[in-house]
Amino acid sequence: MCGILGYIGNREAMPILLNGLKKLEYRGYDSVGMAISNGDLVIKKHVGKVDEFIDKLKDSSIHGNIGIGHTRWATNGKVSLNNAHPHVSNNKSIAVVHNGIIKNYNELRKFLEEKGFKFYSETDTEVIPNLVQYFMDSGINFENSTLEAIKMLKGTYALLVIHKKHKNIIAARNEAPLVLGVNNNEYFLASDIQTIAEHTKNIVYLKNKDVVYTNDRGFKIFNLDSGYVERKVDSIDYDLNKAKKGNYEHYMLKEIVEQVDVIQNITNLDKNKIIKIAKMIKSAKHIFLIGAGSSYHASLIGKYLFSSISKIYVDAILASEFNYFSNLIDRNDVVIAISQSGETYDVLNAVRIARKIGAKIISIVNVEGSSLINESDEYILMNAGPEKSVLSTKTYVAEISILTLLAYSLIDKFDYGINRLLHVKNEIYNLTSRTMRNKIKEIAEKIKDKRDIFIIGRSLQYPTAMEAALKIKEVSYIHAEAFAGAELKHGTLSLIEDGIPSIVF
Ligand code: GLU
Repeated sequence: MCGILGYIGNREAMPILLNGLKKLEYRGYDSVGMAISNGDLVIKKHVGKVDEFIDKLKDSSIHGNIGIGHTRWATNGKVSLNNAHPHVSNNKSIAVVHNGIIKNYNELRKFLEEKGFKFYSETDTEVIPNLVQYFMDSGINFENSTLEAIKMLKGTYALLVIHKKHKNIIAARNEAPLVLGVNNNEYFLASDIQTIAEHTKNIVYLKNKDVVYTNDRGFKIFNLDSGYVERKVDSIDYDLNKAKKGNYEHYMLKEIVEQVDVIQNITNLDKNKIIKIAKMIKSAKHIFLIGAGSSYHASLIGKYLFSSISKIYVDAILASEFNYFSNLIDRNDVVIAISQSGETYDVLNAVRIARKIGAKIISIVNVEGSSLINESDEYILMNAGPEKSVLSTKTYVAEISILTLLAYSLIDKFDYGINRLLHVKNEIYNLTSRTMRNKIKEIAEKIKDKRDIFIIGRSLQYPTAMEAALKIKEVSYIHAEAFAGAELKHGTLSLIEDGIPSIVF
């Protein structure tokens, strides 16, 4: 995952980009860079944090009203200055930032190398500015050359292209998030709304295969499948304070504490809509819950909840493995797809497989306007606010809360479900109190240098153990393994030595 941001307007681009890149850091933080077009192309890159990049640039005065920026989380090629974005064409006129993976980049690179192009990075992205140059060298203008280059790409992308002599940004997306922000004569392109919400609340949610041409007078959108298209400018209601860290030490802590508000929001969901969705689930032949990472663990919780509360069998399947069960699915089935961003590649892929067969899709998602919502028959918004920490915390709880409400709605006990959630909300309020947090800190202090941690739980607590193990691995880099309570004795017990901590839920 990477973050991208572009600005074109009357203001200086650099401060807008630097400020925005800070907000995008949750999407990628191994390296950062930006390009400004002002008749020349000024490129700045840094391996490391956005703050270090800002610090490095604080005394430089780079002027220009057109710029693009990037926070990288490497997929193709190691973390290095050469691999950091933006990538430029051989003639140093065109710069590109990209989020995604160009699958056919080896082929394209070979094609360009045969034409004499040189490559200076190991990334897939570097083929893009060079393809644009290739078409421009043959006499085609910048806009059409970029379009031709985009047509050659196979894979996933949200990308921004600028040229040192042209006063525009060309953007495109396919299976990676990109929104356009519109504000009088200035335009913003970004991976998410929160990055640009302080500048404008007028947003265009771009669709797959959209190519956007912006200059300081307007924008037009060309879709690779359907030609020129009109897309609605939505006026969003976005509370900027929700995305700020406030007095918290870090976003993860802030978001853990916010769980209370998240559950409160879920108790305010539209009852009729939930009941309608419950009916859809009830009339399905088979029900599948799918997700990736934490959302998969929420799916597993859903399986237990639907079984114990609603007495309904559902299968929970990892989104990336769903394909292998596609022969079991038919048009009378329902797939409940869970994703915080609504852009998770594996989840979208699974949903497309199910849709093709004719199954109905219900999604549980946090980001409004996301691709998953577009591809669903019905959706439930988590309303959890922006989750800036790379680790999901409050949205995981949102997912479980919504599944709980659905499980009760399936047996016509929506109101009872709400009561249960309000009860849990109070419990979480106590658990996240300062006293509790200090107590947890003391325990963490005792185990923070251990190499392994074992975690066990039964029933609902088994997926909880799995989620806890994932959190510990992701954030503490300690090997953590979860087991269903009784499974530990089947072999693994022999690994548990004196001094290895076990957490029991
Ligand atoms: N494939 C590009 C790179 O490795 C973009 C990475 C991403 O979006 O995660 O630089």
